[in-house]
Amino acid sequence: MGLTSAWRIAQRGLKVTLVEADQCGSGATRAALGALWPPSPIHTGPLQSLHRQSLWGFDTFARELRQASGMVVEFLRQGRVELLSGVKARADAVKEVAAAQANWPSLVPSPVMQLLSGDELHREEPEVMPWPEGALWCKLSAQVGVESLLAALQAACRQSGVQILENTRVVKLDISESTFRGVHTLTNNIAADKGVLTTGVWTGQFTDVAAAVPIHPVRGQALLLHSGRQVIFRIIKNGKIFLVPWPDGRILVGSTTERQAGFNNINTAEGVNFLLNGAVATCPVLATARLEKIWSGLRPSGPHGRPIIGELKHVQGLVVAGGHFKIGIGMAPLTGEIIADLVTQGRSKYDISPFLPQELSAGKA
Ligand SMILES: Cc1cc2nc3c(=O)[nH]c(=O)nc-3n(C[C@H](O)[C@H](O)[C@H](O)COP(=O)(O)OP(=O)(O)OC[C@H]3O[C@@H](n4cnc5c(N)ncnc54)[C@H](O)[C@@H]3O)c2cc1C
Repeated sequence: MGLTSAWRIAQRGLKVTLVEADQCGSGATRAALGALWPPSPIHTGPLQSLHRQSLWGFDTFARELRQASGMVVEFLRQGRVELLSGVKARADAVKEVAAAQANWPSLVPSPVMQLLSGDELHREEPEVMPWPEGALWCKLSAQVGVESLLAALQAACRQSGVQILENTRVVKLDISESTFRGVHTLTNNIAADKGVLTTGVWTGQFTDVAAAVPIHPVRGQALLLHSGRQVIFRIIKNGKIFLVPWPDGRILVGSTTERQAGFNNINTAEGVNFLLNGAVATCPVLATARLEKIWSGLRPSGPHGRPIIGELKHVQGLVVAGGHFKIGIGMAPLTGEIIADLVTQGRSKYDISPFLPQELSAGKA
């Protein structure tokens, strides 16, 4: 959120300093698997429609980023196959196919979503375990290489004149008369007319704003396998497990959802066991894949699972973007635009009313 917002604001001609306590991306972002699958077309709430708009624009975002940075951004629209279990899942899938056909951007060859029988699934993905109940194939699902995205965003920021200060912790927000004035780091005071707070699960450290921006950590564990050659060709979702394949044989496996872990950002035996068993059960040939890496991250979860986007009512000039939970990579393009609109024009063309920070009266912060 920080990098995308900084890039977009700088593109509009403002002088931007990005202050990062660690290395850019070292929070939840580097833990992400980069899966970009649209929410079900039968879900039409404000978050789902904003999320879909962001995802439909990801190709353009990645292209623009490549041009601005001169770097490779790994991005593929290979689709996603979700294994179906039970009568209800199949009935929902039938509705999803019809709703996607009616409302989503068209694809050639059509349709954008399709039901696969067990046999058809086997033809498309021969290394996936036999699954007689069939699957739902969403062809608009995509994936981005998060490391490449982070590197390109940093380069694009620098190209646009953003000053990036890594290993520099903000220790206090400078707020007086209910107005944002800048930030204090351990060694410096940085004055600014506007601020954008994108500190993920660590936002609660700023007591001036914590109550208006309640973001909680939800741990996610993940791992990377390498199969030497490509064995699956689309994202495969099997219950809580999903596999994100890349053509060179890398397969990212995610993820646990642990609400009670607090800030304890570790891998556990149970978590890794769950991921490995799930991966091998879904795609048995992965039993002999090389286990390259395990990691965990703290997803920032906003109230009721919604992000918080907007200017703080009790601190003029301070805008927040956080709490994107499981969809922060996919939401980054649109969130960056919204934040740049808010900072430069004081409003956005998107309806962000459901995502505004909670209201506190001035002086109560
Ligand atoms: C296992 C896992 C898998 C995921 N998979 C996906 C996926 O496939 N697709 C998807 O869309 N999303 C995914 N996500 C979610 C996604 O990672 C998050 O929604 C997103 O990265 C949140 O970004 P952010 O910028 O809000 O927070 P963060 O990336 O956490 O950034 C916050 C930053 O603030 C910095 N910071 C904190 N305090 C200070 C301070 N005092 N001073 C200066 N800097 C500070 C931190 O160092 C950090 O870099 C996944 C998450 C996890 C954990």
